[in-house]
Amino acid sequence: MTIADNYKRVLAEVRQKCAECNRDPKDVLLLAVSKTVGLDGVSEAILAGASDFGENRPDELVRKYEAFSDVRWHFIGNIQSRRIRDIVRCSYLVHSLYKSKHAQKISDAACQIGKVQDVLLEVNVSGEESKSGLSKDELPEMLSVCMNLPGIRVCGLMTMAPQGDLSAAKESFLGLKKLLEQCNISAEKAGYPCLTQLSMGMSEDWQCAIECDSTIVRIGRAIFST
Ligand SMILES: *Cc1c(COP(=O)(O)O)cnc(C)c1O
Repeated sequence: MTIADNYKRVLAEVRQKCAECNRDPKDVLLLAVSKTVGLDGVSEAILAGASDFGENRPDELVRKYEAFSDVRWHFIGNIQSRRIRDIVRCSYLVHSLYKSKHAQKISDAACQIGKVQDVLLEVNVSGEESKSGLSKDELPEMLSVCMNLPGIRVCGLMTMAPQGDLSAAKESFLGLKKLLEQCNISAEKAGYPCLTQLSMGMSEDWQCAIECDSTIVRIGRAIFST
């Protein structure tokens, strides 16, 4: 199988899954996580129709964005203060924001270049020690900080589910969906636009995520390991 074959197969499977769940396929974005491949791999996926790519390292984000600026680049990795200008310059959507000091810096960097940066807040729904993200308890305060920053627009939430256990994954996905509903109560009170995005589901658990109303599935291995 080639990357192009894999991309087309996964896209067809995502559409099929949406049909089974009575969901509009336009409401689920297939994000091709290209962190394990080089420019050739990205090029192959673009030719197969991919429009949105995820990267978890700033250097690779910059390199690939500069090579392919017509597609959308999403940052899904650990944010470091000194890389925020690059991340903001290159990212269509930042999925992995969970520190208020980074929110402030992203907003400042975005304002400097006349941009409002779309972001998702990363939540550690399962509470696993090894995972980054806000705890459920920290989320309301972080949302209110972000809602007051002029250079940021919070569009939704992101999580990484526990691996190797689909029932635990499902619990995380349903938990994130519930948290989005709670965020929207606060957003509405504040006159802030509705948060619509749930970035959840990876190669091994995306089907379950779509059942739980994911709007962005982040898929790496199923597309790029050949
Ligand atoms: C690597 C990565 C993915 C893709 O994982 P696969 O299991 O390869 O599909 C999704 N989200 C994040 C945050 C990642 O770092």
